[in-house]
Amino acid sequence: MTLVNQLTHEGFIKKTKQKRDRHFVLTNQHNLLILTIHLNFDKSYALLFDQLGNVIEEIPLKDCGLDTENLINSLTSIVLKLSDLLNAKFQNILSISFILPMYAEFQGSFPSPSTFQEIEENLEKKLRKNICILNPSYSAQRAFFELKKEKRENALILTIHKEIGLSIVSNGKMADRRHFPGSEFGHSPLSFNDKLCSCGKKNCLENEVSYSAIINKVNKALLDGQNSVLKVGNISIDSILNAAIAGDQLSIKIFHNIGFNLGKAISVLIQLIAPEKIMLISDIYRAKDFLSNGISSGLNLYCPFFKSENVIIEYHDSNYKNLFTGAYYAAWDKTFYNQLKLMN
Ligand SMILES: [Zn+2]
Repeated sequence: MTLVNQLTHEGFIKKTKQKRDRHFVLTNQHNLLILTIHLNFDKSYALLFDQLGNVIEEIPLKDCGLDTENLINSLTSIVLKLSDLLNAKFQNILSISFILPMYAEFQGSFPSPSTFQEIEENLEKKLRKNICILNPSYSAQRAFFELKKEKRENALILTIHKEIGLSIVSNGKMADRRHFPGSEFGHSPLSFNDKLCSCGKKNCLENEVSYSAIINKVNKALLDGQNSVLKVGNISIDSILNAAIAGDQLSIKIFHNIGFNLGKAISVLIQLIAPEKIMLISDIYRAKDFLSNGISSGLNLYCPFFKSENVIIEYHDSNYKNLFTGAYYAAWDKTFYNQLKLMN
């Protein structure tokens, strides 16, 4: 019996009334739950989804005690804490997704992709659930792919936060990065600032356009005596964005320069992948007027016009809750992947 037939037979999915094509939707006949957990070193948060993607419970987690040296025990004890809180519902959880803190926050102790695979397999045996371990960039990209229904032949989803992430949409499908962490575009040597990156190398793009890079640029310009409404020290990405939108010349210039560097990086992607569209997801979308000018300048200088002229560049804000949506879809992938492995 094929997987589709088996799932239909057991009542997990049902056919819709479309005559020509076969379409299937999930039914709510079974109560299968998916637990997504966003881990941070200070405060964490869990959302419980039903099989149709509705959030049925939100659980803030204080002092989750994430220990990077012993992730298996650390993640197990977090799940056990949640199982106490969820009582009977825990039995109905089919899959669990963990969204880890950003790579840079591990300060050199970030496990390798093969270690993550081992951790997933180990936790699956211990907890008897499907387990996904994700990074925040991938979770955001996956959520956007699903929410925007981006089905173009070739597109790119670029996230800019404390780190830079990239996902490739090819033939209408988002590249499968089952084995974390996948694409490391942020660590491409596209800068000439000679600064040491969290990955241990120099000249990474991340040191040029990430949030901390932007804050460092503003602080340096202020220390060099440049005029601005901002003051050295107490600066956040939000305060720089607010200043730029209010007309602060230094902040506008910094975002224009960031855009220029992004344009240079994007020209590499255009020449390698020839995307029809690039979606840029970041809080700095609020400065898109200044960024887009910079990106155009970078593209004009580094990318042949006939290659870049038809590429659509879209700007979107990042939404914290989208991370959970991405983790929910990744958990479904893992569930079906494991089911297919069992049947083959
Ligand atoms: Zn790096």
